[in-house]
Amino acid sequence: MAGGGRARPNILVTGTPGTGKTTTCSLLADATGVCHINVGDLVREKGLHDGWDEEFECHIINEDLVCDELEDKMEDGGNIVDYHGCDFFPERWFDCVVVLQTDNSILHDRLSSRGYMGPKLINNIECEIFQVLLEEAKASYPEDIVTALQSDTVEDISRNVTKLTEWFNNWRPRRSS
Ligand code: ADP
Ligand code: MN
Repeated sequence: MAGGGRARPNILVTGTPGTGKTTTCSLLADATGVCHINVGDLVREKGLHDGWDEEFECHIINEDLVCDELEDKMEDGGNIVDYHGCDFFPERWFDCVVVLQTDNSILHDRLSSRGYMGPKLINNIECEIFQVLLEEAKASYPEDIVTALQSDTVEDISRNVTKLTEWFNNWRPRRSS
C-alpha cells in the first residue's frame, strides 16, 4: 500500500541522464529537509555493482544490493531517490514518481558538454526521444502517482522544486482503516 506507515513521503525522481535530476533533488532536499539519495553515488561508494560496462562507461548496477541497502531508510520515509531507472525498486516505496523531461537538442548540448560522446550520447538521446523513463515509470507504478515535468530551463527547475515542495509539505499519511 502506498504510504504504508510512513510519517513522511518518499519521492522518486527519474529521467534520462542530463535532465536535471540531481540539481532538482538537491534543491528539493534543501527546501524540505529530506534525505537526497543519489543512487549512482551510492552504487560507487558502497560497491553495489557487478563491474564496469565498457561500452556505456558506467557501473553495472546490482539492483538487489541497492534495494537491500535502501530498505530501512525507505520504510522510515522522507527520502528523495535520484536515479535514471525505476523498474527495480519496490512499488510500495514511493508516494510520488517524477519523470523529468528535456527537449532533445537542449539535452544533446548538456550531455556533450558533460563529455558524453559516441554510443553513450546516442543511447541517452534515444532514451529521451522514445520517452523510455516515462514508459518505465508508468509500467512500474500506479499512473496517478506518476508525473512528467519539463526541465529545459532554470525557470523550469524553480517551478518544479516549488511544486514538489508544496506537494511534500501537504502530504499526510494514509489512515490504515
Ligand atoms: P542528471 O542528474 O539528471 O543527470 P544534472 O542535475 O546533473 O542531471 O544536470 C546536468 C547538467 O544540466 C548540469 O550542468 C545542470 O546544471 C544542467 N541542467 C539540468 N537541468 C537543467 C535545466 N532545467 N535548466 C538548465 N540547466 C539544467
Ligand atoms: Mn545525476
